[in-house]
Amino acid sequence: MAVEQTLILLKPDTLQRGLIGQVIGRLEARGLQLNGCKMMHLDKSKCDEHYAHLIGKPFYPGLVSFMTSAPIVALAVSGPEAVKVVRDMCGPTNARNAMPGTIRGDFSLSTQYNVIHASDSLETAKKEVARFFKKEELFAWERMMDKMTASPDEKK
Ligand code: UDP
Ligand code: MG
Repeated sequence: MAVEQTLILLKPDTLQRGLIGQVIGRLEARGLQLNGCKMMHLDKSKCDEHYAHLIGKPFYPGLVSFMTSAPIVALAVSGPEAVKVVRDMCGPTNARNAMPGTIRGDFSLSTQYNVIHASDSLETAKKEVARFFKKEELFAWERMMDKMTASPDEKK
């Protein structure tokens, strides 16, 4: 089991609805470690880069307009198998199909306004963390609690 880092964006709906703290609280409570945290305004070119796989889809213009409508909060978090763990915490894209207990399943009813972005693979995570954070904006720090997130054997 490897310790991984993944990229999370808390979308404009999360900020507008006052849910930033609750979502970060869930990530912390799960045991994930915060390595980077910043608020920023996305512009269209950053959106095009981040959502390159979606350019040309009918919903894409709406997605850009949503993602640039208010600031977002970008997070880099790490932990055991963090990429999968965070994706599972989010639930599926269409929040109406998300199980209660997931972030989307508890906080959203929308496919587009679905609260959170999370990297979908380790390879994507590396690119996405680098897209949103400079090296000096990422912090590796020793946290006492990390001894309790998984057994030493599991962390080999
Ligand atoms: N999206 C949308 N309509 C769709 C599919 C996706 O508006 O039919 C938006 C939604 O905000 C989603 C984002 O585009 O989170 C990225 O889509 P992706 O398929 O990568 O979903 P995700 O990885 O976020 O679950
Ligand atoms: Mg995606």
